[in-house]
Amino acid sequence: MKTFKQFINGKLIDSHSKDWIEVENPFTGEIIARVPKGDAEDALAALDAASKSQTAWAATTASFRAGYLKKMAELIRANRVELARTLAQEQAKIIGLAQVEIDFTADYFDYYAGWARIYEGEIINSDRQNENMLLFRKPVGVVVGICPWNFPFFVMARKVAPALLTGCSIVLKPSSNTPVTTFEFAKLVSQLDLPKGVLNFISGSGKTLGNTLVKSKLTDMVTLTGSVEAGQEIITASAENVTKVSLELGGKAPAIVFADADIDIAVKGVLDSRIIFSGQVCNCAERAYVHKSIYGKFVEKLAAAMKAVKYGDPFDATTVYSSQIDRAQQTKIDEMVVRAKVAGAQVVTGGKKADTKTGYFYEPTILVGMRQDSEIVQKEVFGPVLPVLPFSEYEEVIALANDCEYGLTSSIFTTNINTVMRGIKDLKFGETYVNREHFEGMQGFHAGWRKSGIGGADGKHGLMEYLQTQVAYIQF
Ligand code: NAD
Repeated sequence: MKTFKQFINGKLIDSHSKDWIEVENPFTGEIIARVPKGDAEDALAALDAASKSQTAWAATTASFRAGYLKKMAELIRANRVELARTLAQEQAKIIGLAQVEIDFTADYFDYYAGWARIYEGEIINSDRQNENMLLFRKPVGVVVGICPWNFPFFVMARKVAPALLTGCSIVLKPSSNTPVTTFEFAKLVSQLDLPKGVLNFISGSGKTLGNTLVKSKLTDMVTLTGSVEAGQEIITASAENVTKVSLELGGKAPAIVFADADIDIAVKGVLDSRIIFSGQVCNCAERAYVHKSIYGKFVEKLAAAMKAVKYGDPFDATTVYSSQIDRAQQTKIDEMVVRAKVAGAQVVTGGKKADTKTGYFYEPTILVGMRQDSEIVQKEVFGPVLPVLPFSEYEEVIALANDCEYGLTSSIFTTNINTVMRGIKDLKFGETYVNREHFEGMQGFHAGWRKSGIGGADGKHGLMEYLQTQVAYIQF
């Protein structure tokens, strides 16, 4: 079993708490590593280091800071196979997807390094003669990054890369379920000559260590990727110091299949969007609405495709998905399906925990016969379970899709360009995918509406989250 240290003020150190978080491989049930279970004192030490280093870091040039991002990308590439294996073990992610996540993360550091010479301020016309108004973009300051367990390596980079590039310092906390790949990265980063304190990795409970990070006066911004509940707690905790928050939370993405859709493209798009990483992805298709004229055919084809999905060992190249993250997640999914059945849903395929020797598997599941206001249609499942509902009219399906407390992603399947453009206009979601699976690009902007979040990540607009403006009025 591997043992890791925290990375605070440029040093790999133990938590003074001497307590540990043990990390289970969800597929085998084996404990593969332990990381320090840090407490409030660790949180404050990391924030102190981040705070003391930030001004000098911000005084360097963006292209100097980008140099470190490029080095991080190189370190990831040099260790890409080992990092992917670790990721696959710590969360039962199939090895192919784990490798994609590692490689994408390296590219992500390079991508934001490329922004060093691109982001800029503005010169604004003044109302007074002989006056220049200059708008500067300056780093927000000390950032706290809090990560979920589902894409732990990529989401780490989604916070670290823009923070460091813009001259912020950062304290990053991974999820207690999946801290291992992040701490492997911390070990790699400790080899760089990065100014001490600008990047810190600590681990511990969200409600104690995480809460201390959020409530501290030293914290200028909190960026959380996680559940709506954690987002709400963070909004409350950040109120005292009016700390900036950027929240990427849950989703309940609708996939709409119109009568004129290419049904095979729609089946593949919906399937891929539902079962990727065992359904544990924020932008997964969580409910499908299919025009009544093709409903029967679509359900039949999707059921056949779902039944053919092979789940099992994440290291088997033919496996499509593996175990849920833990028993609690498997139980949550099962209880939601049981309640859906009590409320009248019928199981087309799946509908129960999978009978496997190891792991916490759930069968690929299709449900029909639900009401729009039922829990399974309204709440995030985060598992390989898809409710499929019929619709008759365009206006009806748009209203059903928008009738949801979340607003992260959505998709449309149609061959009619007018329906595409109308759908994009009428859907109230941060992302809309057309005739494809739900999976965002790093140059886009991943941002949820309604309870799916505040602010967002990626691309130009994601970079702006880490910058604040200052306007100078200059008479000459
Ligand atoms: P979670 O909310 O349980 O935990 C996320 C992180 O927040 C963890 O590190 C946890 O320790 C920390 N945390 C929890 N409560 C806290 C508090 N009060 N103060 C400070 N930190 C706290 O979420 P999870 O189970 O790890 O991840 C799954 C959820 O994340 C799903 O709802 C999913 O949709 C969402 N998610 C969203 C996106 C997105 O981009 N919108 C991406 C990935 C996951």
